[in-house]
Amino acid sequence: MFIDPLYIVIALPGLLLGLWAQARVKGAFKKYSRIATSSGKTGVQVATSILREAGANNVSIEQVAGQLSDHYDPRSRTLRLSPQVYGSDSIAAAGIAAHEAGHALQHKTGYAPLALRSAIVPTANIGTKLVMPLFFLGFILQMSNLIYAAIFLFTGVILFQLITLPVEFNASSRAKAVLTGSGMISGEEAKGVSAVLNAAAMTYVAAAVAALLQLLYFILRARN
Ligand SMILES: [Zn+2]
Repeated sequence: MFIDPLYIVIALPGLLLGLWAQARVKGAFKKYSRIATSSGKTGVQVATSILREAGANNVSIEQVAGQLSDHYDPRSRTLRLSPQVYGSDSIAAAGIAAHEAGHALQHKTGYAPLALRSAIVPTANIGTKLVMPLFFLGFILQMSNLIYAAIFLFTGVILFQLITLPVEFNASSRAKAVLTGSGMISGEEAKGVSAVLNAAAMTYVAAAVAALLQLLYFILRARN
């Protein structure tokens, strides 16, 4: 397959940043999934008590396969926790469960960036699939209109990546506040929660940087 050297030069830093962020979140998760909280609450218990406290009774919690596959699904109002979070009483599990519960609370309180993010998801998904084929077609056929169409679609993807940042940072700050405020974790344990959640947030920053670098590449190529 043909690989453009310019693409490697521009996209490589983003790729490396992404790999570094992934390694960091795995490392933090590994470290703090070995240390139990003094409250002894499992991930599902942490999420349940946060949701109950906030009166979010219409949110269901279930277990989902995979590692670090935890997420909140706004369409079905379901909080899905991975096995290592769901049944674990570790600091990492408490942090991640509280973070996902934080998304459910964003949904409940009508937090605008989450609503905007959900609205962009379908467009961003289509954009992600079509960007590269359109771009390469435009590149091979030397049709700049196709390249501009790809860039237009890609700005939708970038918008999605950028709006994800406040959503994720806000869910984590809600998580930290509610965990320490309720006494579910101690001040010392809060450092571990922060380490895991900050590392996870960095993966979203890395994804946004990678997308911006890719946009830069598209623009540079379109100008030639
Ligand atoms: Zn999140």
